[in-house]
Amino acid sequence: MRTPTLILLLATSAAVPLGAQAGASASAATRAARALDPRALRAHLEFLADDALEGRAPGTRGGKTAAKYIATQFERLGLEPAGDSGTYLQRVPIISLTPTPTLAVAGASAAPLVWKNDFVMWSMRNDSLVNVRGDVVFAGYGIVAPELGWNDYEGLDAKGKVVVVLVNDPGLQDSTIFRGKILTYYGRWTYKIEEALRQGAAGILIVHTTESATYPWTTVLSGWVGPQVRLETAPGSLIVAGWLQQEAAARLFRQGGQDLAALTAAAGRRGFRPVPLTLRLDAAVRSTIRRSETENVLARWPGRGALAREAVLIGGHYDHFGIGAPVNGDSIYNGAEDNASGTAGVLATAEAFVRSGVHTARSLVFVGFAAEESGLIGSQALATNPPFPLRDVAAILNVDVLNLYGRTRDFSALGLEQSSLGRAIGQAAAAEGLRVTPNEEALIRGAYFRSDHFSLARAGVPGTSLESGSDFVGRPAGWGKEQKNRYTAERYHQPSDQVQPWFNYDGAIQQLRVIVRTAMLVGSAPDQPTWSPSSEFRQAGEARRRP
Ligand SMILES: [Zn+2]
Repeated sequence: MRTPTLILLLATSAAVPLGAQAGASASAATRAARALDPRALRAHLEFLADDALEGRAPGTRGGKTAAKYIATQFERLGLEPAGDSGTYLQRVPIISLTPTPTLAVAGASAAPLVWKNDFVMWSMRNDSLVNVRGDVVFAGYGIVAPELGWNDYEGLDAKGKVVVVLVNDPGLQDSTIFRGKILTYYGRWTYKIEEALRQGAAGILIVHTTESATYPWTTVLSGWVGPQVRLETAPGSLIVAGWLQQEAAARLFRQGGQDLAALTAAAGRRGFRPVPLTLRLDAAVRSTIRRSETENVLARWPGRGALAREAVLIGGHYDHFGIGAPVNGDSIYNGAEDNASGTAGVLATAEAFVRSGVHTARSLVFVGFAAEESGLIGSQALATNPPFPLRDVAAILNVDVLNLYGRTRDFSALGLEQSSLGRAIGQAAAAEGLRVTPNEEALIRGAYFRSDHFSLARAGVPGTSLESGSDFVGRPAGWGKEQKNRYTAERYHQPSDQVQPWFNYDGAIQQLRVIVRTAMLVGSAPDQPTWSPSSEFRQAGEARRRP
């Protein structure tokens, strides 16, 4: 069942009576793609990015107004509600815990570790006080990857223990294993926590290393000292999680009779086994708790025929940072590019299907994701508590920051190599005269793990997120990269990410046309897309389809 969608489509169109049908669906795709209206796109974007929406932070008046606006547009278009109990909204309960942790070697005379200098730590439970006393085990990179024949927990009963692991994956040490310098999901700190949770550990401490981590200790501090914002209903029994500063980790290992540098090298080699440290840790976290809620917005454009209960999701997050610290006298974080543009794109795409009257065999479900900027919380809520079975979700196409710089000759998306969805995207792009260029830089920094499609990918649903092309029509080579760098340096996550007079919607329409065509292909293919054999999400994908 690994036959890629594209091959199946070609096989179908070769069967005599179905050839005309394939032609009909190609022209339907063109009809739907041409129905994309740049004026609608611009109007949605300008409304959502207006100061009146106060930066659309979760749980604020501006955030609620944005959700209401999206729901109203879905209703106006005549889409079916696909949220909670017959509404367009799905409730997303959020908990925020601001931690004050302590960490010390049990029974030792040595001074306890110093919060912020030596470590950061937070509670994974929704409790105002948690305590752990546990044996410490070094579990290498903390990875269990059966498809790569790798198991850092081999022979270890982690129950009740505190595991210490390295950030990143072993490919960083040895380019012949994992994907070399391309970061796999196994290298992400979120994965390390999820695996420790599956192993029944009481706590996890990730060793931060300056030579390998993609961000410095100061960034670790800015991310983990303040409020930890999570989906309130996230599953879990892990009690504490945190980071150890590298020098502090080396000291701790010496106290436990081990050498961090030697164990780090060993952890990069096949056949590594967990190594206990001869010490126990006392960890405690006192947290100030705040609860709030926000909403995902969901609507269905029903499919036609036997596959109509299945769905292709087309989504983008509508939240941004709200009102915050002023920069140059401006305190409203409008998030025009990130991601009023993507939300406007989802609305314009829904409208294109409705206006053209084109239906796919599977239903199309349009989603405005909540609280992405707080850590993919809205999409996690959808994956954890889906209003439709995940086995029926064929794919997710995510739109996070559209190209507002003009037409390109190329097209890019994240995770093209991960699943057969990549081929459908290639075919859709070709139909728009665009060549697909993989984004090497995005692969290295693990961009695939950082937007809403990923919450569903982790649950086994093949997914992708649009990227901007880089070869701009009428612009010199390198111009696209220059624009991207300027966006990152000057506007990304700042109040200056607001509507610019030079916004050009032609490139965004190109991207959305590819989305429409991909939705047509995936929405009407006989089989759902499948994960690549080498993908770290293949197992989750197979588990999802099991009855
Ligand atoms: Zn975004």
